[in-house]
Amino acid sequence: MIIVLKTGHSSDELVAIEESVKRAGASPVLIEGKERSVVAVIGAAKLETALFEQLPGVAQVMRVSKPYKLASREVKHDDTIVRIGDVAIGGDQVVIMAGPCSVENRKMLLESAQHLSAMGVTILRGGAYKPRTSPYAFQGMGEDGLKLLEEARELTGMKIVTEVMAPDKVEIVAKYADILQIGARNMQNFDLLKECAEIHKPVLLKRGLSATIEEWLQSAEYILSTGKNRDVILCERGIRTFETATRNTMDLNAIPVLHERTHLPVIVDPSHGTGVRSYVAPLAMAAIAAGADGVMLECHPEPEKALSDGPQSLTFDMVERLLRDLEAIAPVVGKRVALAHKIPAAAKPAKKGHATSEAVAFQGEHGAFSEKAARQFFGDKAKTSPSSSFRDVFEKVVAGDVAFGIVPVENTLGGSIHQNYDLLCEFDVQIVGETKLRVVHNLIANKGTKLADIKRIYAHPQAAAQCERFLRQHPTWSILQVYDTAGSVKMIKEEKALDAAAIASSAAAKHFDMDILKEGIESDPQNYTRFIVLAHGPRDPGRGPAKVDKVSLVYATENKPGALFRTLEVFAKRGVNLCRLESRPIPGKPFEYLFYVDLTGDVHDKSVAGALKDLKEHITFVKVLGSYPSA
Ligand code: PEP
Ligand code: MN
Repeated sequence: MIIVLKTGHSSDELVAIEESVKRAGASPVLIEGKERSVVAVIGAAKLETALFEQLPGVAQVMRVSKPYKLASREVKHDDTIVRIGDVAIGGDQVVIMAGPCSVENRKMLLESAQHLSAMGVTILRGGAYKPRTSPYAFQGMGEDGLKLLEEARELTGMKIVTEVMAPDKVEIVAKYADILQIGARNMQNFDLLKECAEIHKPVLLKRGLSATIEEWLQSAEYILSTGKNRDVILCERGIRTFETATRNTMDLNAIPVLHERTHLPVIVDPSHGTGVRSYVAPLAMAAIAAGADGVMLECHPEPEKALSDGPQSLTFDMVERLLRDLEAIAPVVGKRVALAHKIPAAAKPAKKGHATSEAVAFQGEHGAFSEKAARQFFGDKAKTSPSSSFRDVFEKVVAGDVAFGIVPVENTLGGSIHQNYDLLCEFDVQIVGETKLRVVHNLIANKGTKLADIKRIYAHPQAAAQCERFLRQHPTWSILQVYDTAGSVKMIKEEKALDAAAIASSAAAKHFDMDILKEGIESDPQNYTRFIVLAHGPRDPGRGPAKVDKVSLVYATENKPGALFRTLEVFAKRGVNLCRLESRPIPGKPFEYLFYVDLTGDVHDKSVAGALKDLKEHITFVKVLGSYPSA
């Protein structure tokens, strides 16, 4: 049973509710969500809902239909995001866990950690206690292995996931590990589950070889049931079927099923799922496409010499290639691979800077695509500051009202957002980063509105341009321009219009509690917008060891034949790659142009610095807009 609390309930009311649950012989577990908070009533006895319905602060009392309660979406609507320092598992991120099957010795473990950390992998796996089918096979290094994992963490900063096999080992494994893994063979080791319910460390619970999803979730419930440990990560690792061509059969069905039934993050282990090195990458990609929150991969410096699971272990080159493919796939399903150098750090005011807030300014209302881009870059906890216009964003950054701003500069269907190019030149800001977002547009209306009722569309001109093909199918609709996608949803909501619709993100529909009449109306699904992150003066957005590999600048040439050619020649001669060129009219000088150029490299690279020096001889004005890691 769950007791849904009224929004704005007092803490005294909550205490009284919890006391009455205890008096009824059950245990209360408070679950705070974004939309609602609930007290789950945990205990064997079947209680009457009437016991709690009349208490002050109670909105509703509901029975939970599932045998697992704290793990179910019915009890907690919001996704659980398991946090270990700056690593987050769940939500919009795809986490990568990788490492050898077993910790074999110091050399191979540290070498693995260094290779993987350089690629941006955030979590190192490796078993110190190994569940082996044969008693004569390598059983793991035990505590010595845990000590090596600790050393690898100190060396690289990676978090550690490692298996615990017995209840009496929970304490020692928890001393070294960041995440305790419960292996497939132990999914129903209830004493082990109960022991893990008493600790404050995330638990990665693998699916049993022949466990149903419902049995698996009940095992998760054991860990959650005390209310002390809320951090369970589920790991699909393949199940036993009649098929013998692979070690196990990856049950990718489990991913959407779990996302529907539970709020817990779901990761996939295609190494044990297939048992064959060459099948791991295709299944890892399929898992991410199916919505998994991460993958666990086995790899080894010399797979053929591995003491366990060599045939399914990847080489480091194979891991690197797979990560690139996963980075390409993740945005299609609205996710981002959280590699260490791309992990969004909370936007903090610079120590010596003058920003008074750590917020990120974006143009539009809550639910705008720009806000999603801000969260993609800075993480789901970033404070965002809605702003009325792009100019407003730039002004807030320069005034120090916010630490950062984020604005779109180009879209794959609609082209450049010219105003932001002009503002970049006008304001004293630096580009400190960029991010690319897949943009899926939706036709959004008030509840009760049908497609046939629509006469007017409120849309941002860019959004309308990106949905041109869909809009052409409805020639009688009049299109009214609004300079804010989420704001257009707010407008028709406030108007209570039943003959109008807006074009915006599903987040905006959710934020304003509106209906989506049609999903995915952009003319081409390859619809991506590139956003740049702005700061006043050079400011590190705290993104760790990100490699600076892009330079943006703007310049003006003299108005004479060959002038542009000579500026471009300086880059060609030094072998500097030009990845974008955009021209804009110079304000107040009709038919004279500014050129916005993006280069591959760091301003401190010899070739780039040399080219910039040479450039000065051929131009009348130049401003380096920023040197930053590309998205
Ligand atoms: C492992 O991850 O090392 C392992 C033994 O996996 P599973 O429990 O899924 O077989
Ligand atoms: Mn293994």
